[in-house]
Amino acid sequence: MTTPLIGLTREGLAAELTRIGLPAKTVKMRAGQLWNAAYTRGQTSLGETTTLAKDLRAQLDAHFTLARPEIVSEQRSGDGTRKWLLRFAPGIEVETVFIPEEDRGTLCISSQVGCTLTCRFCHTGTQKLVRNLTAHEIVAQVLIAKDALNEWPGAQRNSDNRLLTNIVLMGMGEPLYNFENVRDAVNIIADGEGLSVSKRRITLSTAGVVPMIARAGQEIGSMLAISLHAVSDDIRDVIVPLNKKYPIKELLAAVRAYPGLSNARRVTWEYVMLKGVNDSDADARALVRLIAGIPSKINLIPFNPWPGSPYECADWARIEAFGEIVNRAGYASPIRTPRGRDIMAACGQLKSESVKRRAAVR
Ligand code: SAH
Repeated sequence: MTTPLIGLTREGLAAELTRIGLPAKTVKMRAGQLWNAAYTRGQTSLGETTTLAKDLRAQLDAHFTLARPEIVSEQRSGDGTRKWLLRFAPGIEVETVFIPEEDRGTLCISSQVGCTLTCRFCHTGTQKLVRNLTAHEIVAQVLIAKDALNEWPGAQRNSDNRLLTNIVLMGMGEPLYNFENVRDAVNIIADGEGLSVSKRRITLSTAGVVPMIARAGQEIGSMLAISLHAVSDDIRDVIVPLNKKYPIKELLAAVRAYPGLSNARRVTWEYVMLKGVNDSDADARALVRLIAGIPSKINLIPFNPWPGSPYECADWARIEAFGEIVNRAGYASPIRTPRGRDIMAACGQLKSESVKRRAAVR
């Protein structure tokens, strides 16, 4: 069995090279060469690493791999959105979505197979947690997208007109319930000698795992998005059950303490617009009061339906009226255009068939 190099931290990579017996004084340099092969050149096999002597190449090839996970299927939306179903192991499948826009291209990656949170309006929430993704599996989603977009050196494109400019951890799963793997993956994706996606262009979205927010600030340092979705505990308890554990007041206190917030580095509040549930003018005014003093923008998300979903999307005029109130209070309040709905790739629509196998079946 070969060990995947993708997803190892720099220290982890060096440790692996030491383990297979590379001379101590060469380890750091070799780690740098392999990092470059994996993340700057996008190599899929160690055999291509012509900067290394043949014997060494063969030695590395025998122990390690840069191979990609299996792409089970790819779908393309009429609006250009692309969705891949990836298989990391038998029964371990997640979805990854690329959303091209005029001024940017955003890759939405998953952090878990399934989810534990059971948010009432979310399709992924109907899929039980199968397991956390490893750092390898999180980073591999980015490599798959870069492969598909033909975005490695040698292609005509240069670094000034990248297609993939932003990453959001808004796919399947709750990233702060898979902290170490997400942290390592983000730090690899942001590494300036590799994929080089700046942390200001990486957004981690959480439903509000309060005790992990401070650590996320210190050890991950990406932009932060909070799935708020309601302004009172009564309603939030129902639609985001995690609220019963970490109510709104505690969530707000944790966000206020998130390091580095400023007008140039604002927190994003995600707010899914559910007809008759959380979409009134009074809700909008309460929202403004709630976040007073926090550098914020509000992302209004039209509810995306899925088979059997118990809610309806608020009317467009209602969403606009809500946004207007928030906007007049001085906050940017863009309405997130639903993308990829026709291929079930929009927010909250992702799901895979993976189920946790019972111990007896293993
Ligand atoms: N667990 C994290 C990451 C998922 S992000 C979190 O909750 O933030 C996915 C975003 O899409 C979240 O803001 C989620 O609340 C939102 N969402 C879920 N289902 C949705 C739906 N059906 N329509 C619109 N947005 C939805």
